[in-house]
Amino acid sequence: VRVRATLRVLAVASEAVPLVKTGGLADVVGALPGALAPHGVQVTTLLPGYLAVMAALGAARTARALPDLFGGPARLVRGPAAGLDIIAIDAPHLFARPGNPYQTADGNPWGDNALRFAALGATASLVATEGLRGQKFDLVHAHDWQGGLACAYLRFAARQVPSVFTIHNMAFQGQFPASIFPRLGLPEVAFATAGLEYFGGVGFLKAGLWFADRITTVSPTYAAEIRTPAAGMGLDGLLRGRADVLHGILNGLDTDAWNPATDPHLAARFDASNAAPRAANKQAVQAALGLAPDALAPLFGFVGRLTWQKGIDLILEALPALFAAGAQLVLLGNGDAELEHRVRGAAAANPGRIGALVGFDEALARRIYAGADVVLVPSRFEPCGLAQLCALRYGAVPVVARVGGLADTVIDANEMARAVGAGTGINFAPPVPELLGAAMLRATSLYREGAPWQRIQANALATDVSWQRSAAQYAALFRETIAAHG
Ligand code: ADP
Repeated sequence: VRVRATLRVLAVASEAVPLVKTGGLADVVGALPGALAPHGVQVTTLLPGYLAVMAALGAARTARALPDLFGGPARLVRGPAAGLDIIAIDAPHLFARPGNPYQTADGNPWGDNALRFAALGATASLVATEGLRGQKFDLVHAHDWQGGLACAYLRFAARQVPSVFTIHNMAFQGQFPASIFPRLGLPEVAFATAGLEYFGGVGFLKAGLWFADRITTVSPTYAAEIRTPAAGMGLDGLLRGRADVLHGILNGLDTDAWNPATDPHLAARFDASNAAPRAANKQAVQAALGLAPDALAPLFGFVGRLTWQKGIDLILEALPALFAAGAQLVLLGNGDAELEHRVRGAAAANPGRIGALVGFDEALARRIYAGADVVLVPSRFEPCGLAQLCALRYGAVPVVARVGGLADTVIDANEMARAVGAGTGINFAPPVPELLGAAMLRATSLYREGAPWQRIQANALATDVSWQRSAAQYAALFRETIAAHG
């Protein structure tokens, strides 16, 4: 047996479940440390000291004082919370604000976001290179634009610690005016095309992509897509240039947190060996949203942010196909005001057939995954997507656009696949209402046939959506990165 030394990794992110979550990033940051532990990787997670984070750390003691962190006194606090080993940046002038981590109550970005997340990056570099109370780190794993500057600070630090940068969504780039550059405390050379300069400004995502030793994104297909102008959102050239260090590693699901056999939010619990109790969850969802209590009508669900990316408008335009299929629809999400308005309108115009809840509701989301026959994920682009993984885990058959991680995680139950007993859902492309409608009709006709549908559902429930394979890939990449760094 080859004994490998434990790796100490400092993860740097702006969200982690259950402390603060606006999207899938939080799930990944919350779940990866536990999944990496069996691979000899010990993760400490550096988070901004939002109110919720500081509350969770309770009376944890100061691990280091930072007399002036971007305009005010701060300190580092370390402690266990939510199953993670956390270092929080207690900097009230930057992070002690209610509500969303990035926006004011009226939906505008905080005016000092550049400094807030520069503070996160600079602190990551400080902790990784100087250690904290004698503990050193072998590698920094930075996530998304909020963590991007960590890779820049690390590159210019006295002690060299390698970094891996993970893209969860290219659409959020952390782009700021050039005028903030002098306040970042980075050397002049960093402000260059061969650096963090991006379209004349400072790009935090660009910084991560340029300065990291290795880049990952959350599915192999998205890793390929973002090297094209169509999906690269302006950074495809850089990514083509760094293709040799760009890897796609699928997100997993925390299968303890997402377990239909133990989930307290469900009306009835079940597992892969007996999915019959799903019927009670279907009934609960129908009742909660005012749908007709029809056990036989196929129930379609959508859970997600109401944005252009997620294709909720495609669903609203494909309603004729839904009605032709005799199906019901539940919609759960929040986001853009106009899409929220359209979702409410669709439900109001179709009582008993369409139910909607505009808001964020963890319990209802879980009941939808556990009760709907189909979960729709018609994203225009999707780096990985967790909704379809939740659907597979809870036995709702995913109908997904064949893009990004959706293409990598759902096996289309076409005729050939079914002939060999395969197929866990339905894929369609390109993401337009006509093809979503056709996919919904395919789903309902299989549903009405009975036996083929049960096979697809059983395949879905049998899919291993855990972190197991992906954690091994991250651990191997971390070791390779450190070895190459020397
Ligand atoms: P993204 O990170 O782009 O928002 P993902 O599919 O990767 O999309 O992750 C979204 C996660 O958030 C899923 O676990 C989904 O169930 C959950 N979610 C999204 N919107 C809501 C909502 N309105 N209420 C409850 N859970 C939600």
